[in-house]
Amino acid sequence: MADFDYDVLVIGSGPGGYVAAIRAAQLGLRTACVESRETLGGTCLNVGCIPSKAMLHASEYFDAAANGTMAKMGIKVTPELDLPAMHAQRIDAVTQLTGGIAYLFKKNKVTWLKGRGAFVDAHTVQVGEQTVTAKDIVIATGSSVTPLPGVTVDQTVVVDSTGALELAKVPEHLVVIGGGVIGLELGSVWRRLGAKVTCIEYLDQILPGFDGDIRKEANKVFKKQGIEFKLSTKVTGVSVSGDTASITVEPAAGGDAETITADCVLVSIGRRPNTDGLALDKAGLSVNARGQIDTDHRFQTTVPGIWAIGDVIPGPMLAHKAEDEGIAVAENIGGLTGIVNHAVIPSVVYTWPEIAGVGLTEEAAKEKGEIKVGKFPMAGNSRAKTNHEPDGFVKIIADAKSDRVLGVWAIAVPAGTMIAEAALGMEMGATSEDIAYTCHAHPTHSEAIKEAAMAVRGKAIHI
Ligand code: FAD
Repeated sequence: MADFDYDVLVIGSGPGGYVAAIRAAQLGLRTACVESRETLGGTCLNVGCIPSKAMLHASEYFDAAANGTMAKMGIKVTPELDLPAMHAQRIDAVTQLTGGIAYLFKKNKVTWLKGRGAFVDAHTVQVGEQTVTAKDIVIATGSSVTPLPGVTVDQTVVVDSTGALELAKVPEHLVVIGGGVIGLELGSVWRRLGAKVTCIEYLDQILPGFDGDIRKEANKVFKKQGIEFKLSTKVTGVSVSGDTASITVEPAAGGDAETITADCVLVSIGRRPNTDGLALDKAGLSVNARGQIDTDHRFQTTVPGIWAIGDVIPGPMLAHKAEDEGIAVAENIGGLTGIVNHAVIPSVVYTWPEIAGVGLTEEAAKEKGEIKVGKFPMAGNSRAKTNHEPDGFVKIIADAKSDRVLGVWAIAVPAGTMIAEAALGMEMGATSEDIAYTCHAHPTHSEAIKEAAMAVRGKAIHI
């Protein structure tokens, strides 16, 4: 057998790559990870999940003070925004967590090869001046922002998600192009800090991929918070003059054009896989029509010994999906059986309230067969009511015959945390009866999940 520098070489240190590298090292494999950024952790830790949550969390406090929520609880304050300090705590969170991955690499004896990786052949990768060989190579290069044709991101007036995390001042008018998760989260941050926010979405509803009821309710909740929506609307151009942008829009179905002016435009129309510069062809690999690398269920590509995980392969572009695939791929390389159940991957929007779902939407479940649906409003949940958080509901979709839970959707302040119970239940093949007869602590928001399960069976108590 050829003598390789490493047993496993991972390209990319996002939640997919760093987790794969650590798990491979834990399994006793000599492991290295190639990363071109200055810090480890990929999109998620550097410019994604973590900094966005830092800004969402801080702006939530500001909003609670500014919008009267705190006053309702007997706390009278007039908040004053210190934006540099808010940014400093965001940077601090990122620094601590990316540094934490460097510590974990050292602890687990994973070698960090700094630089961009490109294939020389199926077992060899060029990293800067260095040529490195490995028996198995994992591509975990993630994704980056999809550009809007004809629109130049200058990170001042026209920004992408990275620029929108770092704005030096609160915009007067922020136009968000794209009503998906990232647009709504970052739009919420700046709306809470005082910006007028207009969200333009090509489809007739925000949050593509989410359950229909949830999409409608989310729209209502965000409107109530002051976000203006232009649905079924197409952006045809963005021009910048000085510090003002003019956004030309027209109905998606065609019609009269309109121009909107703003001092900041966030382009958030999606993300695309990172494969440029990898020289995949030299390893005998190619991409599919969507630019992704296809794999089998073990995450092996068409070339034996080359594997791929995370945003660069098909499936939802989510950090926890990438992490689970990272563990599974390392276990498969290490001779164990690594599996990811792609039917049970929760999605969360970290707005206020949070929006979460796992499994099938009602629309998709109906296409597969007969279903039963139970819904319970958060207004009927004692904890939500006590906390002045009445918006939202929990919805459970179950198979009409077997009663097995097919999907759970929620809008509730801690929906992102609540959905873990649903994911565990579905992973274990739970029925709505199993959930309805599981004791849930009182008073908790999670009781709404139990009551929605009871509603599937036609007998919720607090409604
Ligand atoms: P990435 O995290 O993209 O990491 C890939 C790494 O590979 C990068 O560091 C890149 O520099 C490196 N790389 C690429 N090519 C090369 C090369 N040739 N050589 C060396 N290094 C290379 N997901 C969630 O689940 N929850 C959230 O709350 C959430 N919030 C988000 C908020 C924002 C603003 C954004 C942009 C994304 C968010 N996401 C969230 C999505 C999440 O960040 C991604 O799904 C996740 O990071 C994908 O992980 P990955 O390991 O596949 O790739």
